[in-house]
Amino acid sequence: MSQKQTLSFQAEVAQLLHLVTHSLYSNKEIFLRELISNASDACDKLRFEALHQPGLYEDAPKLEVRVSFDKDARTLTIADTGIGLSQQEAIDNLGTIAKSGTREFMNRLSGDQKADAQLIGQFGVGFYSGFIVADRITVESRRAGLKPEEGVRWVSGGAGDFEVETITRAQRGTSVTLHLREDALDYLSSWKLKSIIGRYSDHIALPILMRKEEWKEGEDGKPGEHLLSEEWETVNQATALWARPKKDITPEQYREFYKSVSHDYEDPLAWSHNRVEGSTEYTQLLFIPSHAPFDLWNREKAAGVKLYVKRVFIMDDAEALLPAYLRFVKGVVDSADLPLNVSRELLQESRDVKAIREGNTRRVLSMLEDLAKAEREEGAGEEDKGRFAKFYGEFGAVLKEGLGEDAANRERIAKLLRFASTASDTVAVSLADYKARMKEGQDAIYYITGDTQAAAANSPQLEIFRKKGIEVLYMTDRVDEWALSYLNEFEGTPLQSVAKGQVDLGKLQDEAEKKAAEEAAESFKPVLAKLKEALKDKAQDVRVTTRLVDSPACLVVSDGGMSLQLARLLKQAGQ
Ligand code: ADP
Ligand code: MG
Repeated sequence: MSQKQTLSFQAEVAQLLHLVTHSLYSNKEIFLRELISNASDACDKLRFEALHQPGLYEDAPKLEVRVSFDKDARTLTIADTGIGLSQQEAIDNLGTIAKSGTREFMNRLSGDQKADAQLIGQFGVGFYSGFIVADRITVESRRAGLKPEEGVRWVSGGAGDFEVETITRAQRGTSVTLHLREDALDYLSSWKLKSIIGRYSDHIALPILMRKEEWKEGEDGKPGEHLLSEEWETVNQATALWARPKKDITPEQYREFYKSVSHDYEDPLAWSHNRVEGSTEYTQLLFIPSHAPFDLWNREKAAGVKLYVKRVFIMDDAEALLPAYLRFVKGVVDSADLPLNVSRELLQESRDVKAIREGNTRRVLSMLEDLAKAEREEGAGEEDKGRFAKFYGEFGAVLKEGLGEDAANRERIAKLLRFASTASDTVAVSLADYKARMKEGQDAIYYITGDTQAAAANSPQLEIFRKKGIEVLYMTDRVDEWALSYLNEFEGTPLQSVAKGQVDLGKLQDEAEKKAAEEAAESFKPVLAKLKEALKDKAQDVRVTTRLVDSPACLVVSDGGMSLQLARLLKQAGQ
């Protein structure tokens, strides 16, 4: 491909670009964050590939990002010394939407321009956000390891297509040049660029360089002006945020960092930053998001924890660092004890990784315990009050998977569970709350499963419990049935489904009731025999019950049997 080629964007890209370029909104400056984060990712990729192939550094080992501008040409350039793009990669990666976050974004578009514009501002749409401020973008790049003649130039005006051609480019890496729109010329200012970099990109572990400015006094009555010198200076802190002492990091910086590692646009609910010492040493910086991603239910999509070894980025989504039931957690783990060339397979077996995983798990659980505690503390602020409930609404069902998955922490997880019940319409009853309200003589925690709270609440199986004023928990999450099968008891009290077997209300039943029940059983014997005969293919047993008050009959499952709810679930799943 030496000639210029014109190619079309994937349809979704064209749609996105149209939106980006036709929306006016207040948060334009995020384009710089997106482009710098791409530059930084490209440097991380080079560093990682070079672990096995040191030749990729060529003769330029420095990894850095340079931001420069040209007032006359009205261009702004972000250049990196990262991995670069081959021609095919430029076509593939800059012409299609690969990023899952962007897809989610596309799915959320409402068609209302104003609302959508706001959404872009929050999300950041990666590379394409350049078109917010530019009416043309030129990307020049050469992939590390390729010959200088194998460089690529990619140019697009952000409409339906882009051009690519082969160029010769001595230096490895990518430079992205934005030809600024008339209304974006204020980005041609060192001061402005520095302040944006400070706000969004300070935590980037690479140096971000800009030309130094010098003040030139005006001569002959002309006003003075800032001139760019030939010298470059580093304008960010250029140390990984997690490697800095906690006391030097502001909440705002943590939030920005979170947004950049998670691609989330909302603030996290909580975070925890620790240097863990002991036989395995590592730094953990873990965040709990405030809302669930669209693919939360995909267990294959592993946790959002990035693994670094001595500040070198090793991999995204290091699932070995957290159990699947905590896959909503985002953050970074940096260990000095793992080898740099660690692979996913090796990770699974490493003793150090096991220790880190356990440490992370404990840390997340204790963050959740803190949130839960803060919610109930006297004098808790409104914000504290809502936080655990918010967490639980978004991730409670995932957390429950932990009952089955993490036997070692089952008790701790059980304490974090919340349910709605016959005594509470909101999902706020903990097992401990329930126990504290148990009736004298009650020796089990009763629950009922159902597709919805309303369905559960209307079940005839609850009648006797209502009558006696015994609270019953509603289990209406799809995972409840499965998860609860791992939780036989809570602090010594068994959990008992009201829909299973003989409900033995034990001491809660008075003598008269027991006697009446026995008599009824006796006098109904002939009827029961007939019913059994009539239902012999359909029901295992037919009995007289004390569990109903108003309804004539109900279905129950034998004690060891699969519950109706689970049976329905399996049927839906085609089993
Ligand atoms: P994301 O960064 O989430 O993957 P972007 O839209 O920001 O999505 O970027 C799309 C892709 O373009 C990247 O995944 C990467 O492959 C490529 N890319 C963008 N900028 C650079 C760069 N500076 N160097 C190398 N590749 C880049
Ligand atoms: Mg990006």
